[in-house]
Amino acid sequence: MTAAKPIIARIVLDVPLDSLFDYRAEGLAEDDIGRRVLVSFGRRRAVGVIVGLADRSGVAENKLKPVLHVFRDLPPLPADILHLLRFCADYYQHPLGEVVLNALPQRARRSEAIAAPPPQCFLLSTGGREIRLDDLPARASVQRRLLLRLQQGALCRADLADFGSQGSKVLRDFIARGWAEAATMTPSVPLAPTTAALPELNPAQAEAVQRILAETDAFHPWLLHGITGSGKTEVYLRLIESILAGNGQVLVLVPEINLTPQLEERIRRRFPRQNRVSLHSGLNETERLSHWQQAAEGRADIVLGTRLAVFTPLPRLKLIIVDEEHDSSYKQQDGLRYSARDVAVMRARERSIPIVLGSATPALETWHNSQSGRYALLELPERAAYQAAPPAVHLIDTRRAKPEQGLSAPLLRAIAERLERREQSLVFINRRGFSPVLMCNACGWLSACPRCSSKLVVHLRERQLRCHHCGHETHIPASCPDCGNTDLSPVGHGTQRVEEVLAEHFPSARILRIDRDSTRRRHSLRAMLAQVHDDEVDILVGTQLLAKGHDFPKLTLVGILNADGALYSTDFRASERLFAQLLQVTGRAGRAALPGEVLIQTDFPSHDLYLTLQRHDYNAFADSLLAERRQADFPPFCFQALLRAEATQLSEAMAFLAKAVKAGLSLNRPVTLYDPVPAQMTRLAGRERAQLLVQADSRKTLHDFLQAWLAGLREKASQRVRWSIDVDPLDFY
Ligand code: ADP
Ligand code: ZN
Ligand code: ZN
Repeated sequence: MTAAKPIIARIVLDVPLDSLFDYRAEGLAEDDIGRRVLVSFGRRRAVGVIVGLADRSGVAENKLKPVLHVFRDLPPLPADILHLLRFCADYYQHPLGEVVLNALPQRARRSEAIAAPPPQCFLLSTGGREIRLDDLPARASVQRRLLLRLQQGALCRADLADFGSQGSKVLRDFIARGWAEAATMTPSVPLAPTTAALPELNPAQAEAVQRILAETDAFHPWLLHGITGSGKTEVYLRLIESILAGNGQVLVLVPEINLTPQLEERIRRRFPRQNRVSLHSGLNETERLSHWQQAAEGRADIVLGTRLAVFTPLPRLKLIIVDEEHDSSYKQQDGLRYSARDVAVMRARERSIPIVLGSATPALETWHNSQSGRYALLELPERAAYQAAPPAVHLIDTRRAKPEQGLSAPLLRAIAERLERREQSLVFINRRGFSPVLMCNACGWLSACPRCSSKLVVHLRERQLRCHHCGHETHIPASCPDCGNTDLSPVGHGTQRVEEVLAEHFPSARILRIDRDSTRRRHSLRAMLAQVHDDEVDILVGTQLLAKGHDFPKLTLVGILNADGALYSTDFRASERLFAQLLQVTGRAGRAALPGEVLIQTDFPSHDLYLTLQRHDYNAFADSLLAERRQADFPPFCFQALLRAEATQLSEAMAFLAKAVKAGLSLNRPVTLYDPVPAQMTRLAGRERAQLLVQADSRKTLHDFLQAWLAGLREKASQRVRWSIDVDPLDFY
């Protein structure tokens, strides 16, 4: 027996170094590329991934260490995923090893082999199919609901959340009684004809489905633009059905799993016997691994996940759907700062498959792509289910109707009317993208930057106004520079305060507050939303958590507070977000038989944004914003990257960035380097932060510049300053 010729395995490790490491290995073949290995690295053992094989190495043979173990417990990362990860490492300027290892489920990054995971899905057993609802005691509501669910098809562990804290116990009980059993679901389960009566597609939906399905063997990016309730989800379901029938896998991305329970539910009801898995951070490690494995082995038909799911290997992938594509949750805010939507488009391109980006309020970048012809636009202009007119939007001029503790008299009257009619109201408080600017309460003067087109931001602690765009700084003035009035205040009401005030006004109303805090502390968001559905709530108070796809038939009034802050925000994306959010939240009112009304409290009732909102005219708004961006040379007409630095002292971070500017200028490239500025949240977790914006006319120019510039910065790395780069940044705090 001759020993196999030793070869060199080129390995990436989870280290912040942009290099491959060579190890000696035996008996490796091409199809081991993408497998996890165990190696010794320095003084520890580390898990790496083979990204290539070679005959020889730059490292002397006697210095080469051996691969200690090759894991064969999971499928290797396939070539298309490795290629995608390489692209991301390159595009987002992040070390390849970190990118690759991060794409694996946590469990697979550990140095133990993975035991077969416990079953994740359950079906009724032969015996269980005999059980009827009447066999269960009327009081046993969880049992009854669980039985009903199992009668519809497989139940996955992740679905247990729907049954509250008793879910797992009741399921165990079913298994113990022999009613339910673990299911090994494979794609060989034929696509069952759905038993539900499907709505007949309206002409716009039918055209969308037909055009997308006309050519599924090539890369086609589609923007499915349809107002809330226009039937986008129904289009997705038809597409999924057709792709599954052709034995393909479908990847469905959603911004946040909690915010889209209705989509998950509808997919489950439409395809009860197909193997659907979810991938999001709410799963435990075992579930994550099992779902990933089912996807990677081609056993899962539908993968529904948040941004991290975009890197899941899917051998039979034939379609990607990105729902609510405009949502900023698709952008990762640390580590590899990728946009899952953009990566999904890249993935579809490489796989030569269609991708559908769906939204009522597309991101301006996406809209621009659909106008320039890069993406094909499909419009669903009308509500699908009923001919209800969109809600009437009225503006409450708060310079006349002065709000008391945040709430104006006309809004309070409107809520009182709804209470009398036993309808529901939603008080929506805009907080996103809200950076306080200073306003004169007498003449409406706003703290504008003298050096650029943005507004100065109030930094109360330092008693300063700062421009986050160009770095200009000044003291908070004692009086208005225009009229001399001394009543100046930051334009801004928290949800909690508003809840209290509403309770004072309407002592017998049932008020529910839904925001990040309340959903963390009390019940889950799901349970809260169920309360609203079950008509246990009269007035809802909430933030952007409430703006998305929930359907509340009895909700007829939406009141909007604090929207103005975003009109004059320093963030050039603030008005895009405000409009999107208001249009989404407006869609909450009057979805069923009852007409809806929206009341917006504002000091600027003639602002274009509100007037366009009154017409529900996204297209007009997007076109005018695009024109503004073109004029100001903002994205999507330029390409940006943000260099962030942090240190114990702000001065150190600023000094580092100043040096970076110098280094950047000396490269002599056609890019604009702005002055370094302290971050809006200067202090975070005991460190002080600053940032520097780089801008170029083309992606390529920016990329080439970053490549050269960052290589230099890496060489000059210091222990005192930590820095990171954000390509295509969405947030500038
Ligand atoms: P979106 O995802 O755009 O908000 P949905 O797909 O959820 O819209 O559709 C809104 C409502 O209209 C749902 O209750 C859905 O079942 C219904 N619906 C969708 N398409 C049709 C159709 N062609 N005919 C009748 N009802 C429809
Ligand atoms: Zn004034
Ligand atoms: Zn400025």
